[in-house]
Amino acid sequence: MAMPVATGARRWQAGSMHCRLHRIPLTKAVPLAISRGTTASVEHLLLAIEHEGIIGIGETGGFDTGHRCFSTDAVVDELSALAPRLAERSPEPMQELEPLLADLSPPARCGLDLALHDWWGKRLGQPVGRLWGLDPGVSAPTSVTLGLGSVEAVLARLERWWDQLPATRIKLKLGSPDGADHDRALVEAVAAALQRHRATTGVACELQVDANGGWDLERARSMLGLLAEHGVVLVEQPLPPQEDPDADCAGFAALDLDCPMALVADESCWDLHDLLRLAPHVDGVNIKLLKSGGLAEALLMARTSRRLGLSVMLGCYSDAALLNGAAAQLLPLVDWPDLDSHLNLVDDPFRGPVLVGDRLLPGTGPGLGVTVEGLPC
Ligand SMILES: [Mg+2]
Repeated sequence: MAMPVATGARRWQAGSMHCRLHRIPLTKAVPLAISRGTTASVEHLLLAIEHEGIIGIGETGGFDTGHRCFSTDAVVDELSALAPRLAERSPEPMQELEPLLADLSPPARCGLDLALHDWWGKRLGQPVGRLWGLDPGVSAPTSVTLGLGSVEAVLARLERWWDQLPATRIKLKLGSPDGADHDRALVEAVAAALQRHRATTGVACELQVDANGGWDLERARSMLGLLAEHGVVLVEQPLPPQEDPDADCAGFAALDLDCPMALVADESCWDLHDLLRLAPHVDGVNIKLLKSGGLAEALLMARTSRRLGLSVMLGCYSDAALLNGAAAQLLPLVDWPDLDSHLNLVDDPFRGPVLVGDRLLPGTGPGLGVTVEGLPC
Protein backbone atom coordinates (compact mmCIF):
# COMPACT_ATOMS: atom_id res chain seq x y z
CA MET A 1 0.00 0.00 0.00
CA ALA A 2 1.35 3.40 -0.93
CA MET A 3 2.35 5.88 1.73
CA PRO A 4 -0.27 8.65 1.76
CA VAL A 5 2.14 11.56 1.46
CA ALA A 6 0.90 14.87 0.07
CA THR A 7 4.19 16.22 -1.15
CA GLY A 8 7.66 14.85 -1.65
CA ALA A 9 9.35 13.32 1.34
CA ARG A 10 12.66 14.76 2.46
CA ARG A 11 15.37 12.27 3.24
CA TRP A 12 18.70 12.70 4.90
CA GLN A 13 21.19 9.96 5.44
CA ALA A 14 24.63 10.39 6.79
CA GLY A 15 26.28 9.12 9.90
CA SER A 16 24.34 6.70 12.03
CA MET A 17 20.81 8.12 12.40
CA HIS A 18 18.88 8.39 9.13
CA CYS A 19 15.85 10.69 9.06
CA ARG A 20 12.89 11.07 6.76
CA LEU A 21 10.22 13.71 6.92
CA HIS A 22 6.84 13.32 5.21
CA ARG A 23 3.99 15.77 4.88
CA ILE A 24 0.62 14.21 5.72
CA PRO A 25 -2.75 15.76 4.86
CA LEU A 26 -5.38 15.22 7.53
CA THR A 27 -9.03 15.89 6.78
CA LYS A 28 -11.78 16.09 9.37
CA ALA A 29 -15.04 14.26 8.82
CA VAL A 30 -16.76 17.15 10.59
CA PRO A 31 -14.99 20.55 10.64
CA LEU A 32 -14.35 21.81 14.18
CA ALA A 33 -15.20 25.40 15.15
CA ILE A 34 -13.85 26.94 18.35
CA SER A 35 -13.64 30.53 19.59
CA ARG A 36 -10.56 31.21 17.42
CA GLY A 37 -11.93 29.83 14.14
CA THR A 38 -12.84 26.70 12.18
CA THR A 39 -10.54 23.85 11.10
CA ALA A 40 -11.53 21.44 8.33
CA SER A 41 -8.08 20.08 7.45
CA VAL A 42 -4.44 20.41 8.47
CA GLU A 43 -1.06 19.25 7.26
CA HIS A 44 1.01 17.30 9.76
CA LEU A 45 4.45 15.74 9.55
CA LEU A 46 5.73 12.21 9.99
CA LEU A 47 9.33 12.08 11.17
CA ALA A 48 10.97 8.67 10.84
CA ILE A 49 14.41 8.00 12.30
CA GLU A 50 16.30 4.82 11.48
CA HIS A 51 19.26 3.38 13.32
CA GLU A 52 20.58 -0.18 13.29
CA GLY A 53 17.54 -1.43 11.39
CA ILE A 54 14.98 -0.02 13.85
CA ILE A 55 12.62 2.74 12.75
CA GLY A 56 11.10 5.16 15.22
CA ILE A 57 8.22 7.40 14.11
CA GLY A 58 6.88 10.67 15.43
CA GLU A 59 4.07 13.02 14.36
CA THR A 60 4.02 16.77 14.67
CA GLY A 61 2.56 19.84 13.02
CA GLY A 62 1.82 23.51 13.38
CA PHE A 63 -0.77 24.79 15.86
CA ASP A 64 -2.11 28.03 17.29
CA THR A 65 -3.10 28.86 20.86
CA GLY A 66 -4.12 32.46 20.22
CA HIS A 67 -0.96 33.94 21.74
CA ARG A 68 1.57 31.59 20.11
CA CYS A 69 1.46 30.13 16.62
CA PHE A 70 3.72 27.63 14.82
CA SER A 71 3.34 26.80 11.15
CA THR A 72 4.00 23.33 9.77
CA ASP A 73 6.39 24.89 7.23
CA ALA A 74 8.43 26.40 10.06
CA VAL A 75 8.65 22.98 11.73
CA VAL A 76 9.83 21.47 8.43
CA ASP A 77 12.57 24.11 8.21
CA GLU A 78 13.61 23.50 11.79
CA LEU A 79 13.81 19.72 11.47
CA SER A 80 15.57 20.03 8.10
CA ALA A 81 18.25 22.22 9.65
CA LEU A 82 18.63 19.70 12.48
CA ALA A 83 19.12 16.69 10.22
CA PRO A 84 22.91 16.96 9.75
CA ARG A 85 23.42 17.09 13.52
CA LEU A 86 21.17 14.06 14.03
CA ALA A 87 23.09 12.16 11.40
CA GLU A 88 26.18 12.30 13.60
CA ARG A 89 24.40 10.80 16.57
CA SER A 90 22.70 7.68 17.88
CA PRO A 91 19.13 7.64 19.29
CA GLU A 92 20.50 6.27 22.56
CA PRO A 93 21.07 7.24 25.22
CA MET A 94 18.32 9.83 24.87
CA GLN A 95 19.95 11.91 27.60
CA GLU A 96 22.78 12.79 25.22
CA LEU A 97 20.24 14.40 22.90
CA GLU A 98 18.59 16.54 25.58
CA PRO A 99 20.64 19.72 24.84
CA LEU A 100 19.75 19.42 21.16
CA LEU A 101 16.07 18.85 21.96
CA ALA A 102 16.01 21.81 24.35
CA ASP A 103 16.87 24.23 21.53
CA LEU A 104 13.87 23.23 19.41
CA SER A 105 10.40 24.77 19.27
CA PRO A 106 7.76 22.66 21.06
CA PRO A 107 6.33 21.11 17.87
CA ALA A 108 9.76 20.29 16.37
CA ARG A 109 10.84 18.82 19.71
CA CYS A 110 7.61 16.82 19.85
CA GLY A 111 8.24 15.15 16.50
CA LEU A 112 11.76 14.11 17.45
CA ASP A 113 10.87 13.19 21.04
CA LEU A 114 8.13 10.84 19.80
CA ALA A 115 10.39 9.23 17.19
CA LEU A 116 13.09 8.71 19.82
CA HIS A 117 10.64 7.17 22.31
CA ASP A 118 9.25 4.91 19.60
CA TRP A 119 12.77 3.82 18.61
CA TRP A 120 13.68 3.24 22.28
CA GLY A 121 10.62 1.09 22.95
CA LYS A 122 11.16 -0.92 19.78
CA ARG A 123 14.82 -1.40 20.67
CA LEU A 124 13.76 -2.85 24.03
CA GLY A 125 10.77 -4.68 22.55
CA GLN A 126 8.23 -3.08 24.90
CA PRO A 127 5.52 -0.41 24.81
CA VAL A 128 6.82 2.89 26.18
CA GLY A 129 4.18 2.96 28.92
CA ARG A 130 5.29 -0.43 30.14
CA LEU A 131 8.89 0.77 30.33
CA TRP A 132 7.60 3.59 32.55
CA GLY A 133 5.96 0.99 34.79
CA LEU A 134 2.39 2.06 33.95
CA ASP A 135 -0.61 -0.28 33.77
CA PRO A 136 -1.80 -0.25 30.13
CA GLY A 137 -5.29 -1.41 31.16
CA VAL A 138 -6.00 1.72 33.24
CA SER A 139 -7.83 4.31 31.15
CA ALA A 140 -10.71 6.65 31.95
CA PRO A 141 -13.37 7.42 29.30
CA THR A 142 -12.23 9.91 26.68
CA SER A 143 -14.34 12.96 25.99
CA VAL A 144 -15.71 13.76 22.57
CA THR A 145 -15.85 17.34 21.37
CA LEU A 146 -18.79 19.43 20.21
CA GLY A 147 -17.54 22.47 18.32
CA LEU A 148 -19.31 25.79 18.06
CA GLY A 149 -22.25 26.08 15.71
CA SER A 150 -25.99 26.51 15.68
CA VAL A 151 -27.87 24.65 18.38
CA GLU A 152 -29.22 22.28 15.73
CA ALA A 153 -25.76 21.57 14.31
CA VAL A 154 -24.26 20.95 17.75
CA LEU A 155 -27.02 18.53 18.71
CA ALA A 156 -26.59 16.75 15.36
CA ARG A 157 -22.85 16.44 16.08
CA LEU A 158 -23.64 14.88 19.45
CA GLU A 159 -25.89 12.29 17.81
CA ARG A 160 -23.16 11.56 15.24
CA TRP A 161 -20.68 10.92 18.04
CA TRP A 162 -23.14 8.56 19.72
CA ASP A 163 -23.54 6.71 16.42
CA GLN A 164 -19.75 6.24 16.43
CA LEU A 165 -19.10 5.33 20.09
CA PRO A 166 -20.94 5.17 23.42
CA ALA A 167 -19.51 8.47 24.64
CA THR A 168 -20.19 9.35 28.28
CA ARG A 169 -18.01 12.45 28.49
CA ILE A 170 -19.01 15.38 26.31
CA LYS A 171 -16.84 18.47 25.88
CA LEU A 172 -18.74 21.50 24.61
CA LYS A 173 -16.81 24.36 23.04
CA LEU A 174 -17.94 27.82 24.14
CA GLY A 175 -16.67 31.36 23.71
CA SER A 176 -18.94 31.88 20.73
CA PRO A 177 -18.22 34.96 18.60
CA ASP A 178 -22.00 35.36 18.54
CA GLY A 179 -21.94 36.24 22.22
CA ALA A 180 -22.89 34.98 25.65
CA ASP A 181 -26.51 34.30 24.72
CA HIS A 182 -25.37 31.76 22.13
CA ASP A 183 -23.09 30.12 24.71
CA ARG A 184 -26.04 29.87 27.11
CA ALA A 185 -28.30 28.40 24.45
CA LEU A 186 -25.70 25.74 23.65
CA VAL A 187 -25.23 24.76 27.30
CA GLU A 188 -28.96 24.49 27.88
CA ALA A 189 -29.57 22.48 24.70
CA VAL A 190 -26.71 20.03 25.23
CA ALA A 191 -27.54 19.56 28.93
CA ALA A 192 -31.16 18.82 27.96
CA ALA A 193 -29.97 16.33 25.32
CA LEU A 194 -27.86 14.55 27.95
CA GLN A 195 -30.89 14.36 30.23
CA ARG A 196 -32.98 12.84 27.42
CA HIS A 197 -30.16 10.39 26.70
CA ARG A 198 -30.12 9.33 30.34
CA ALA A 199 -33.90 8.94 30.40
CA THR A 200 -33.94 6.73 27.31
CA THR A 201 -30.72 4.71 27.79
CA GLY A 202 -30.09 4.85 31.53
CA VAL A 203 -26.58 6.12 30.79
CA ALA A 204 -25.45 9.27 32.59
CA CYS A 205 -23.06 11.56 30.74
CA GLU A 206 -20.59 14.12 32.06
CA LEU A 207 -20.61 17.61 30.56
CA GLN A 208 -17.37 19.58 30.27
CA VAL A 209 -16.97 23.02 28.70
CA ASP A 210 -13.99 24.68 27.03
CA ALA A 211 -14.06 28.39 26.27
CA ASN A 212 -10.67 28.32 24.49
CA GLY A 213 -9.91 31.73 25.98
CA GLY A 214 -13.00 33.22 24.35
CA TRP A 215 -14.35 35.02 27.42
CA ASP A 216 -13.38 38.12 29.32
CA LEU A 217 -13.61 38.13 33.12
CA GLU A 218 -17.12 39.57 33.22
CA ARG A 219 -18.50 37.07 30.70
CA ALA A 220 -16.76 34.20 32.46
CA ARG A 221 -18.28 35.16 35.80
CA SER A 222 -21.69 35.51 34.20
CA MET A 223 -21.47 31.95 32.83
CA LEU A 224 -20.38 30.08 35.96
CA GLY A 225 -23.81 29.96 37.62
CA LEU A 226 -25.45 28.54 34.51
CA LEU A 227 -22.72 25.94 34.10
CA ALA A 228 -23.15 24.83 37.72
CA GLU A 229 -26.92 24.70 37.32
CA HIS A 230 -26.48 22.24 34.46
CA GLY A 231 -23.98 20.05 36.28
CA VAL A 232 -20.91 21.00 34.25
CA VAL A 233 -17.94 19.28 35.90
CA LEU A 234 -15.10 21.43 34.55
CA VAL A 235 -14.40 24.64 32.67
CA GLU A 236 -11.29 24.89 30.56
CA GLN A 237 -9.32 28.07 29.77
CA PRO A 238 -12.04 30.70 30.34
CA LEU A 239 -9.75 33.68 29.65
CA PRO A 240 -7.23 34.26 26.85
CA PRO A 241 -3.70 33.06 27.65
CA GLN A 242 -1.23 35.85 28.38
CA GLU A 243 2.47 35.94 27.51
CA ASP A 244 3.14 37.71 30.79
CA PRO A 245 3.13 34.89 33.38
CA ASP A 246 1.89 37.08 36.24
CA ALA A 247 -1.00 38.45 34.18
CA ASP A 248 -1.83 34.94 33.04
CA CYS A 249 -1.93 33.60 36.62
CA ALA A 250 -3.99 36.62 37.74
CA GLY A 251 -6.77 35.66 35.34
CA PHE A 252 -7.12 32.19 36.81
CA ALA A 253 -6.76 33.57 40.36
CA ALA A 254 -9.63 35.99 39.71
CA LEU A 255 -11.94 33.10 38.85
CA ASP A 256 -10.65 30.30 41.05
CA LEU A 257 -12.52 31.10 44.26
CA ASP A 258 -15.83 31.75 42.47
CA CYS A 259 -15.64 28.72 40.22
CA PRO A 260 -18.03 25.99 41.39
CA MET A 261 -16.52 23.37 39.09
CA ALA A 262 -12.97 22.32 38.29
CA LEU A 263 -10.96 25.12 36.65
CA VAL A 264 -8.52 23.77 34.06
CA ALA A 265 -5.67 25.54 32.25
CA ASP A 266 -4.99 24.59 28.64
CA GLU A 267 -3.58 27.29 26.34
CA SER A 268 -1.83 28.86 29.37
CA CYS A 269 -0.04 25.64 30.34
CA TRP A 270 2.66 24.34 28.02
CA ASP A 271 5.34 22.84 30.23
CA LEU A 272 6.37 22.11 33.80
CA HIS A 273 7.24 25.77 34.45
CA ASP A 274 3.71 26.82 33.52
CA LEU A 275 2.21 24.00 35.57
CA LEU A 276 4.09 25.06 38.70
CA ARG A 277 3.13 28.74 38.41
CA LEU A 278 -0.53 27.89 37.70
CA ALA A 279 -0.86 25.15 40.33
CA PRO A 280 -2.10 27.44 43.16
CA HIS A 281 -4.88 28.83 40.94
CA VAL A 282 -6.29 25.84 39.02
CA ASP A 283 -7.72 22.40 39.70
CA GLY A 284 -6.21 20.73 36.67
CA VAL A 285 -4.14 21.16 33.54
CA ASN A 286 -4.63 20.02 29.96
CA ILE A 287 -1.37 18.43 28.78
CA LYS A 288 -0.85 18.19 25.01
CA LEU A 289 2.23 16.73 23.38
CA LEU A 290 2.58 19.53 20.83
CA LYS A 291 2.68 22.11 23.63
CA SER A 292 4.94 20.13 25.95
CA GLY A 293 7.33 19.18 23.16
CA GLY A 294 6.68 15.47 23.50
CA LEU A 295 6.48 12.66 26.00
CA ALA A 296 9.46 13.40 28.25
CA GLU A 297 8.02 16.70 29.47
CA ALA A 298 4.43 15.38 29.42
CA LEU A 299 5.35 12.48 31.72
CA LEU A 300 7.02 14.90 34.11
CA MET A 301 3.94 17.15 34.03
CA ALA A 302 1.50 14.28 34.59
CA ARG A 303 3.45 12.87 37.51
CA THR A 304 3.97 16.31 39.06
CA SER A 305 0.29 17.21 38.67
CA ARG A 306 -0.74 14.08 40.53
CA ARG A 307 1.82 14.74 43.25
CA LEU A 308 0.43 18.27 43.68
CA GLY A 309 -3.17 17.06 43.81
CA LEU A 310 -4.09 18.51 40.41
CA SER A 311 -6.24 16.60 37.96
CA VAL A 312 -4.76 15.72 34.60
CA MET A 313 -6.45 16.22 31.25
CA LEU A 314 -4.65 14.86 28.20
CA GLY A 315 -5.69 16.66 25.04
CA CYS A 316 -5.02 17.02 21.34
CA TYR A 317 -5.20 19.43 18.43
CA SER A 318 -6.08 18.12 14.95
CA ASP A 319 -3.85 15.16 15.68
CA ALA A 320 -3.77 11.78 13.98
CA ALA A 321 -3.48 8.40 15.67
CA LEU A 322 0.30 8.62 15.98
CA LEU A 323 0.18 11.66 18.27
CA ASN A 324 -2.85 10.34 20.12
CA GLY A 325 -1.34 6.85 20.32
CA ALA A 326 1.79 8.35 21.83
CA ALA A 327 -0.33 10.31 24.31
CA ALA A 328 -2.24 7.10 25.09
CA GLN A 329 0.94 5.72 26.67
CA LEU A 330 0.25 8.23 29.48
CA LEU A 331 -3.42 7.34 30.00
CA PRO A 332 -2.94 5.47 33.30
CA LEU A 333 -1.92 8.86 34.79
CA VAL A 334 -4.87 10.79 33.34
CA ASP A 335 -8.22 11.75 34.88
CA TRP A 336 -9.79 13.35 31.81
CA PRO A 337 -8.56 11.93 28.51
CA ASP A 338 -9.53 14.14 25.57
CA LEU A 339 -8.04 12.28 22.63
CA ASP A 340 -10.82 12.26 20.07
CA SER A 341 -9.25 14.12 17.12
CA HIS A 342 -8.14 11.01 15.22
CA LEU A 343 -11.68 9.62 15.54
CA ASN A 344 -12.81 12.54 13.37
CA LEU A 345 -10.36 12.02 10.47
CA VAL A 346 -11.21 10.48 7.12
CA ASP A 347 -7.60 9.92 5.99
CA ASP A 348 -5.59 8.99 9.08
CA PRO A 349 -2.65 6.85 7.87
CA PHE A 350 -1.83 5.60 11.39
CA ARG A 351 -3.18 2.60 13.31
CA GLY A 352 -2.59 1.82 16.95
CA PRO A 353 -4.72 3.11 19.83
CA VAL A 354 -7.91 1.11 20.29
CA LEU A 355 -11.34 2.21 21.49
CA VAL A 356 -13.06 -0.09 23.97
CA GLY A 357 -16.45 1.48 24.54
CA ASP A 358 -15.46 5.08 25.15
CA ARG A 359 -12.08 4.24 26.65
CA LEU A 360 -8.98 4.61 24.54
CA LEU A 361 -6.20 2.10 25.11
CA PRO A 362 -2.66 2.35 23.76
CA GLY A 363 -1.58 0.04 20.96
CA THR A 364 -0.03 -3.18 22.22
CA GLY A 365 3.03 -3.10 19.97
CA PRO A 366 6.49 -1.97 21.11
CA GLY A 367 7.40 1.70 21.25
CA LEU A 368 4.37 3.92 20.73
CA GLY A 369 2.32 0.94 19.49
CA VAL A 370 1.45 2.72 16.25
CA THR A 371 1.97 1.62 12.64
CA VAL A 372 1.72 3.63 9.44
CA GLU A 373 0.34 2.29 6.21
CA GLY A 374 3.05 1.65 3.64
CA LEU A 375 5.92 3.43 5.42
CA PRO A 376 8.64 3.34 2.73
CA CYS A 377 11.61 2.58 4.95
MG1 LIG B 1 -8.84 23.15 25.54
